[in-house]
Amino acid sequence: MLQLAGIAVDARSIGGMETCIQFPGLGFAFDIGRSPRKSVHRDVVLFTHAHMDHMGGIAYHAATRALRHLSPPTYVVPHEKLEDVERLLGIWRRLDGSSLPVELVPLGPGGELRLRRDLVARPFRADHVGPCQGYALWSRRQKLRPELAGVGGDEIARRRRAGEVVTRPVETPEVAFCGDTRIEVVEREEVVRRARLLILEVTFLDDRVPVVEARAKGHVHLDEVCERASLFENEAILFTHFSARYTRHEIARLLEKKLPAALAGRVTPLYPPPASPPSR
Ligand SMILES: [Zn+2]
Ligand SMILES: [Zn+2]
Repeated sequence: MLQLAGIAVDARSIGGMETCIQFPGLGFAFDIGRSPRKSVHRDVVLFTHAHMDHMGGIAYHAATRALRHLSPPTYVVPHEKLEDVERLLGIWRRLDGSSLPVELVPLGPGGELRLRRDLVARPFRADHVGPCQGYALWSRRQKLRPELAGVGGDEIARRRRAGEVVTRPVETPEVAFCGDTRIEVVEREEVVRRARLLILEVTFLDDRVPVVEARAKGHVHLDEVCERASLFENEAILFTHFSARYTRHEIARLLEKKLPAALAGRVTPLYPPPASPPSR
């Protein structure tokens, strides 16, 4: 479990294999590539796109929740995928002979979903080989109106009792998750640069897959991030979705070699899990 910008994150993500970013304190997840065991507890999942490594675990997740008598999950899916996801679950219901209860919520850029009283998710467009959307999580808090800054507590309480509105809602971008994307999302979407915690895919790290090839595949290359180091205002940045060709050691070495000082202190790489011992 990682603790980034004060937010607990339980993440796994390897390019082409599996991505699932869970927020245990908040009860939801982004993407379910393979339905990791603990993801059964996430009752809301926001999907970025329909590649297998991001959505492959959807039916398994729904079935596991039903088996454990947990409430039907809410799946947030891009508008253009709604019909196919409905169809896919319908086929699984027939195959599995079960009801697979779920609630599907279509959502796209310009829309929002309230996750809690003080937290909303808003999709933004990513730039992948097919349709893909990222999500920004915004917290909403009531703060004292600025013109009341010097006023004493008793006076504020009196004014509130008298019916005056003494607070105003303030929104803060807490998390931005880009899904699979090219680097353009950083330039285009202000929330990606400003979110306290940015979760950014950096699939390719060196010349084994050069920038031009990374772009053709719809992904980010580390060199493109380094060139734009001054754009990132985030408190913490989690790099995810490394290609399976990189070992933990190579990831650490390449980041140390390439990341400029302006980024190095804020970046956490999501390493692949250590190789498991050969099974007997
Ligand atoms: Zn992917
Ligand atoms: Zn993808």
